Amino acid sequence: MSFDCVVIGGGAAGMMAAIQCKENNMQTVIIEHTAKLGTKILKTGNGKCNFSNTFMTKEMYQNNNADYAMEIINRFNVDDTIHFFEGLSVYKKERNGYLYPRSEMAASVALALTGKIQALDIPVFFETSVKKIDRAGSEYVLQLEGAKTNTIKTKTVILACGSAASPSSGSDGSGYKLVRKLGVKVVKPLPALTALESDKKNMKLATGVRALGNVKIMVAGRVVAEDTGEIQFTDYGISGIPVFQVSRFAVRAMEEGQRVEALVDVAADIKEDDLLSMLKCAVNTRKHQSVSESLSGLFNKKLVMMICKDVGIEGNSSASDIDDDICQRLARYMKSLHYHITGYKGNDYAQVCQGGVDVSGLNYNLESVDNPGIFFAGELVDIDGRCGGYNLQWAWSSGVVAAKSAFDYCNRQE
Ligand SMILES: Cc1cc2nc3c(=O)[nH]c(=O)nc-3n(C[C@H](O)[C@H](O)[C@H](O)COP(=O)(O)OP(=O)(O)OC[C@H]3O[C@@H](n4cnc5c(N)ncnc54)[C@H](O)[C@@H]3O)c2cc1C
Repeated sequence: MSFDCVVIGGGAAGMMAAIQCKENNMQTVIIEHTAKLGTKILKTGNGKCNFSNTFMTKEMYQNNNADYAMEIINRFNVDDTIHFFEGLSVYKKERNGYLYPRSEMAASVALALTGKIQALDIPVFFETSVKKIDRAGSEYVLQLEGAKTNTIKTKTVILACGSAASPSSGSDGSGYKLVRKLGVKVVKPLPALTALESDKKNMKLATGVRALGNVKIMVAGRVVAEDTGEIQFTDYGISGIPVFQVSRFAVRAMEEGQRVEALVDVAADIKEDDLLSMLKCAVNTRKHQSVSESLSGLFNKKLVMMICKDVGIEGNSSASDIDDDICQRLARYMKSLHYHITGYKGNDYAQVCQGGVDVSGLNYNLESVDNPGIFFAGELVDIDGRCGGYNLQWAWSSGVVAAKSAFDYCNRQE
């Protein structure tokens, strides 16, 4: 069997790449090692699929490869993505720049892509793995396991095997092994967009609380990242979107053996002086209640219980016991809850990985410099975006650019 392009991995990037190849009349096949295409898409955006974002700048990509990411994204941008999905009758719904399918069903995006693959008659080898990729003259020979045929030939290969994040969706990190076998450098993959663990005392008291706050990541005493939004307080540490956004910096620093701390401001919308006045007013006007009750109009009671314990008072004690000095201590601490970060939630929990195919080994066509005709797309590449549709946009854009580049490569060979 001989193809113009073999796409390895049938996720967001792989499906997009295969569709573009076939629309360019390339003989294309998808090799997918699970029994389904697009499983991870179903999990995205809490089942609603935040497929892109109208606010697209390089700052949304968090590592040193942001310029590379934007170079690719500008060649298939947000408008192109909206247009592409409209062509599949998936219409957008926008919320503050965040783009979702109008149906707010992630399944509608996966269905549109799998439907297009069927309509274009693109063969898919399910439950098939690629054991080896060898160069044979101007072509590549792939050794397969699980398919009816053991070897296939192809002019080009697009590797779109995802990362190691969320292995239950099929992206189990096996793609990195294939990449390394080709001699292409892989930056150590680590979880990103994940929750952070801490050995802070009293965390159980605030378990389950969600509160607007600002989180700063400190590495060796220096702020390296910060974000504001709804923080989730858990019995193991902190989670929620703002924590996800900064987690990649904490994870990388911990891997490098550095001390990592998080400072959480649970009154990010209030200046410390104003907060102090509000605390004083609350404990004075509600002095017949407990401290946590008197402050319950300002903060979740469970959060107050934890904060009180942290500063050495009991949340159940009487508000009348709280003098101005204690109010001052509370106000200062509420602006800067201290978490020593001791770990992070791993790939089962993380939404994406940082690390992957080192872009220094690729040209601007997503092609391996040392393996002409081998292209990479999606999360397998060392690009990771913030929450907000940036990772799927990278998958769509890199899938299209890899496919167009594979098409150009085939034309140059003829
Ligand atoms: C819970 C969750 C929520 C998310 N929400 C969002 C969101 O709302 N917006 C957003 O932009 N991003 C979101 N993401 C991230 C986004 O889903 C991924 O970045 C994106 O799906 C990556 O696409 P991909 O095609 O590169 O990889 P994947 O979608 O992981 O696809 C890779 C495919 O390759 C297959 N495969 C892997 N290895 C092999 C192999 N060796 N041989 C053959 N096949 C292989 C896998 O089975 C899989 O089908 C979320 C992720 C998670 C886990």
